This record gives sequence, C-alpha cells and structure tokens, in this order.
Amino acid sequence: MEKYPFQLKEEVIFKKGIRCCSGRIREGKLLYYLPRQMKRELVEKVLAEIRQNLILRLKDAYRYYNYFRKCQSHIHKSYELKKMAEEIYTRKYSTLDFSLTIKFRRQKTVMGTYRRKKDGKVVIYINDHFKNAPEFLLEYVIAHELSHHHFSGHDQAFYRELSQLCPDHKKKRKLANQYLLLKEAEIF
Ligand SMILES: [Zn+2]
Repeated sequence: MEKYPFQLKEEVIFKKGIRCCSGRIREGKLLYYLPRQMKRELVEKVLAEIRQNLILRLKDAYRYYNYFRKCQSHIHKSYELKKMAEEIYTRKYSTLDFSLTIKFRRQKTVMGTYRRKKDGKVVIYINDHFKNAPEFLLEYVIAHELSHHHFSGHDQAFYRELSQLCPDHKKKRKLANQYLLLKEAEIF
C-alpha cells in the first residue's frame, strides 16, 4: 500500500437493505458499508476502491494540517461564541434581536444545528470537533446556522443570506469540511 503519514484502522460493515457501497471516516477509522448480499469475491476489489478514495480525500485535507494548527482558536465559552455570532449577524441586521445561546455539542456528521424553541429562543449547537478550530471556520459554521434564522431550507434565498453574513462562505465551507475530516480521522 502507498505510504502516507497516517495509518487508520478499518472496519467493514455489511448492512441489510442497502444497494450501494460507501465509505466514511469516523472516530479514527475507515468504515466501509457494503450490502449484506454482496458476492464475497467482489468485496476486496470494492474495498480497495473505497479505500483509495477515502485516502485521497484525507491526503487532500492533510495539506492544510500545519495551516490549521497555526491558527487554532481559543474561543470555547458560550459567551465568546455569542459575541462572534453578534458580530456576524450585525453585518446585515442592526442588532441581534432574539435570545440566542450557542454551545458545542457532540454531533455526528453535521457541523452545526439551528433550533428554535416554542418560546422563540434560539439555540445553535456546534459540532465539538470545531472546539479548537481556526476562528474563520467557527465563523462559517455560525454564519450558516444564523442564516437558518430567516431561511429554513438551503435554497437560493438562504445562500443570499449566508453571502451577506459570511461573504467568502464557499471557500470557508471547503476548508471546514477538510478540517472535520482530519478530526474524524483523529489526525488532530
Ligand atoms: Zn444548513
């Protein structure tokens, strides 16, 4: 196998009811999902293909390793996150005119979650993989979730809003994905 600066464990999961083969990286492992009824003589070939793909993605993300390390943030506290949210929101609106709580929480796959409670109070959860992430990545995740305050889906209107709250969101999103991948691979 090709050399790279990380060796991850692998786990093959045969699942009932799926037709496609897929792979993902989580908790420091390469996970493979294969249909339960798959012919066993095909397994090795399919695993090799998925592995190659995952490793390519990881290598791509790894290019930013030192860069990410250099600009790790020290924003951990809820009030610090809220201050950041206020700065982002007031790029477009005059004030943050709703009750907002932001905290880190363990989350699978998503970067963040926007919740509006019955009493109108808003809570934004950020995937705790972003706890030491560079500030501009936190900024992206918060801007994305704040954009859901007025727009629930991911349609054009939503992206117009996001562009106003975080003008270079596309670039930052790409980097946030890379960062999350390195975190899932437990390389950080
Ligand atoms: Zn969203």
